[in-house]
Amino acid sequence: MKIVIIGAGVAGAILARRLAALPGVELHCLERVGPDDHSEAGTGLNVGPNAVKALRLCDAALAAEVEAASLPWKHWQIALTDGTVLFDLPLSQVADNPGIRIRWSELYRVLREGAGAAIRYGCEIASIAAATGGGGRTAVRYLQGGVEHRVDDIDLLVGADGRYSATRVAFSGLPEPRHVGVAILRTLVPDTSAGLIDDYGQWFNGPHRLLAFRVPPGHVYIAATYPVEPGAPLRDEWKTEATMRATYQPAQGAPSAQVQWLMDAMCANLPHSHWARMQESDVLFGEADSNVMYLGDSAHGMAPTLGQGATQAMEDACAAALILEREIRAGRRAPRGWLALVDAARRERIRFAMALSITATDTMLAGADPVAGTRWKTGPAFLGDLSTLFRDVSLGQREPVPAP
Ligand SMILES: Cc1cc2nc3c(=O)[nH]c(=O)nc-3n(C[C@H](O)[C@H](O)[C@H](O)COP(=O)(O)OP(=O)(O)OC[C@H]3O[C@@H](n4cnc5c(N)ncnc54)[C@H](O)[C@@H]3O)c2cc1C
Repeated sequence: MKIVIIGAGVAGAILARRLAALPGVELHCLERVGPDDHSEAGTGLNVGPNAVKALRLCDAALAAEVEAASLPWKHWQIALTDGTVLFDLPLSQVADNPGIRIRWSELYRVLREGAGAAIRYGCEIASIAAATGGGGRTAVRYLQGGVEHRVDDIDLLVGADGRYSATRVAFSGLPEPRHVGVAILRTLVPDTSAGLIDDYGQWFNGPHRLLAFRVPPGHVYIAATYPVEPGAPLRDEWKTEATMRATYQPAQGAPSAQVQWLMDAMCANLPHSHWARMQESDVLFGEADSNVMYLGDSAHGMAPTLGQGATQAMEDACAAALILEREIRAGRRAPRGWLALVDAARRERIRFAMALSITATDTMLAGADPVAGTRWKTGPAFLGDLSTLFRDVSLGQREPVPAP
């Protein structure tokens, strides 16, 4: 069986490692950047307990490597910027194991090293198309070091090439983004907080929210949000120190010591910050007429509120790896059947994660009351949903996934 994966990011690298070890599989994993190029992975990630659970089940050795490069995410606190605590949740209440906090570049390094020689770096895709022989097979042309290569009659093509997936563009076009109504600034700064910032915290001033946590080695990841009309452009006036400080300064009293440090650190790093508008997009795990599968951001755009982008990319990859391995080892070498199984394992799970991410964004929208919205999150409805999100990973196994 000839399998090509486009992109060795979060999902692609996990899947490549697993498929490279399968007898009878000719694997090509084509990555655009060089092995040490982390220019598009400059921030930190909180990865949910559900991804850790999925990776431990799918590939315990790789999970151990990822956990060794990270800090555990065990606790979630929400406060106002004056320090008043509204929500204080040990994740053990809603999860079977901790999540992780990690530098994005570190996650790429560990996952890509785990896939070893299965990944070909510096590949520029020249064309992706249906193969001339038909049967749902595809063909890819790419350049590596100026030399052109072709892979024909591909039994399964996996688009794991992220949010602007060239694979998805080639077959059905990029999905329309749905803007959520929140703009977000993200930055990674040296940790000079002397212990003020550690596990996952959020601080609200009206609907404006700061989020921060420490990642190894010696950095703090910070995200700051601003309500914005859905679809409206980012505003230049937000990107100034004066606006930044005014936005998070409590109406009465002084900011807490944590918020004061975060404001100072953000202002010192404004030129290096990453700005975006929160958005989501429709789910598509496979093409109807071609043997093409999508995983991670190429399959679904996720509002980042609950840190489920990379998290669900990991769940997707673990599900696809386990399903493909089981089917290939059992001699069921039918890519259309694999696509249906991955879709069945993942579609409702992703819809649930996307819907809950939107629900949890309520306190960041224009006019929101963060106190009432956060207090509601301490109730059984939201905590029950969080428990489903963090515990009920869906990997396409026939038995329910056990707690580790
Ligand atoms: C600033 C920021 C902060 C984030 N924070 C979090 C967080 O805290 N928690 C969380 O869970 N998620 C977070 N996310 C989302 C998360 O990073 C993504 O959801 C996740 O990386 C998706 O994984 P993926 O494997 O689908 O795609 P990616 O990790 O984006 O990997 C795609 C890969 O494909 C390669 N590629 C792209 N095009 C081509 C091509 N034409 N040819 C060959 N290769 C190609 C890319 O170089 C890359 O290696 C954040 C995202 C951003 C931008």
